[in-house]
Amino acid sequence: MAVSTRMALLIAVCFLGCYVFVPSLAASGDFLQCLSSSIPSERVFTPDSPSFTSVLVSSIRNPKFFTPTTVRPLCIVTPTNASHVQAAVLCGRRHDVRVRVRSGGHDYEGLSYRSERPEVFAVVDLANLRSVRVDRGAATAWVDSGATVGELYYAVAKAAPGLAFPAGVCSTMGLGGHISGGGMGMMMRKYGLSVDNVLDATLVDANGRLLDKEAMGSDLFWAIRGGGGGNFGVVLSWKIRLVPVPPTVTFSNIQKTVDQGAASAVTKWQTLAPALPEDLSIRVIVQNQHALFQTLYLGGCSALVRAMSSQFPELGMTRADCREMSWLQSTVYINSGDTKTPVETLLNRTTSLSTFTKVWGESYFGGNFERLAITKGKVDAGDYFRNEQSVPPLLSRK
Ligand SMILES: Cc1cc2nc3c(=O)[nH]c(=O)nc-3n(C[C@H](O)[C@H](O)[C@H](O)COP(=O)(O)OP(=O)(O)OC[C@H]3O[C@@H](n4cnc5c(N)ncnc54)[C@H](O)[C@@H]3O)c2cc1C
Repeated sequence: MAVSTRMALLIAVCFLGCYVFVPSLAASGDFLQCLSSSIPSERVFTPDSPSFTSVLVSSIRNPKFFTPTTVRPLCIVTPTNASHVQAAVLCGRRHDVRVRVRSGGHDYEGLSYRSERPEVFAVVDLANLRSVRVDRGAATAWVDSGATVGELYYAVAKAAPGLAFPAGVCSTMGLGGHISGGGMGMMMRKYGLSVDNVLDATLVDANGRLLDKEAMGSDLFWAIRGGGGGNFGVVLSWKIRLVPVPPTVTFSNIQKTVDQGAASAVTKWQTLAPALPEDLSIRVIVQNQHALFQTLYLGGCSALVRAMSSQFPELGMTRADCREMSWLQSTVYINSGDTKTPVETLLNRTTSLSTFTKVWGESYFGGNFERLAITKGKVDAGDYFRNEQSVPPLLSRK
């Protein structure tokens, strides 16, 4: 056989083997039966369960991925301990049902809870596995993957004032997916990515084994720290190094329009940012005709203004731009822009299903947006009439 023919055959076999496989209904039934022998029934939700839809949408952030045509899971498993995850993986392997794992549901493509092709799959939703155990003396913590970034920030700051963890800015992200992908945040200049501060982890592998760092070996431990979620197993928990933060940090929001020199400020920022003191991070959000410069400084206002005046005078930062607060408060302030927002909002895991479209939806339609989306859900649930900014169908959660 010519090499090219063999290669074509190999690709075809791989393609068929990898992508066209759909388990039979009998296999699905066997899978559910298998789950029921190891996992309490109240931890498994099938489409017949009254709570199936509310569990499914509990961490869906984008209504685009919750329409009648969305390929939904055969069931959702909500483990409360490692053995449930192991059982789900083992049953899935035995009966050819793929398992998708969801921690915080922030996957940009929604692939932790939906499939792009018609396949039978189950979701293992880790929302109930979210404890944070802080060892203040050792400056470490074990955090379960189902915890959100906000829950971690809060638990660490309360248990060990003066310590923190370098991770992202959106408090509702799950640590399972976030750390798996690296974890960039406002302290990465000083302390690196989240994965740079991972010391150990527990994982359920494709054979249902529960492994720690030593048992999984160096390649797998390396791969789960940045190789992306959903690839190598289900990470149940992470042992992380906590980092010191001062009692007072300073946050500043400065917005520039194009007329106020936004373009040249962004240009300067691109070359300057890597050379700034490592206690100082500036991120820029460019939208329409504006550039918003968000600065976090691990220290007080005077030192920040001094550094910015000498290194980034184009921004024109003065004391009036400074907001001094605790590091924990800064993780709330970066999103709320209000120093009075209680830090307890970090514990709120639930965001509206329409969070993503809400921003433009509400600026177009104000308080009418939700009603428009519900109406759309009633009259065009399949979203036949749509464009990039059309009103998404908001379906009943019953
Ligand atoms: C609004 C928003 C803001 C963001 N801000 C930042 C930011 O500031 N910094 C940054 O670095 N990133 C940011 N991201 C990206 C974010 O880190 C990733 O989308 C991340 O994968 C989300 O994790 P999750 O657990 O919430 O998502 P999920 O949807 O639950 O999971 C994402 C992926 O990881 C897999 N996965 C989930 N849990 C596990 C687990 N326990 N073990 C193995 N695989 C798992 C899933 O199967 C899926 O493939 C942001 C994303 C959004 C939507």
